[in-house]
Amino acid sequence: MARPVKLRCVSWWPRISFFKPVGVPLNILEKVNLSIEEMEAIRLKDVEGLEQEECARRMRISRATFHRVLGMGREKIADALIYGKAIQIGGGDFGLPQQRFRCNNGGHEWDVPFEVIARGGPLACPKCFSDDVQPAPLPPSDFQGRGRGRKFHGGRL
Ligand SMILES: [Zn+2]
Repeated sequence: MARPVKLRCVSWWPRISFFKPVGVPLNILEKVNLSIEEMEAIRLKDVEGLEQEECARRMRISRATFHRVLGMGREKIADALIYGKAIQIGGGDFGLPQQRFRCNNGGHEWDVPFEVIARGGPLACPKCFSDDVQPAPLPPSDFQGRGRGRKFHGGRL
């Protein structure tokens, strides 16, 4: 279950996951894909205005990695704005600060911290020790950035 890529911790989820230039038909439109962790890096640095060190600490990565993730995200946004491409937000290598897990043996549920998920996730249910465990479905209300009466989903095209 070990993951080859180091996970980045994100605590925000985009409400709108697709941006498109006006007047360009979708079938001839080029897209850039921003990962969830690239958006989180941009949010922490450019929207929250945090120091790079604090951003890196929150995402549980080194400053060098944060710098790289942030740079890639900014580059993609610039590319989309300059060349009139659509921006799709999604995917990546990330984990939540805390994720609910469920055991398929007895339906037990418990919260797993990011550190455990980053090491490959829980191996067994803490109640019945079954190894048939999986992340529980995410309620959108777990995320900041929701609300104002809107659920997160792809924007209308
Ligand atoms: Zn169990």
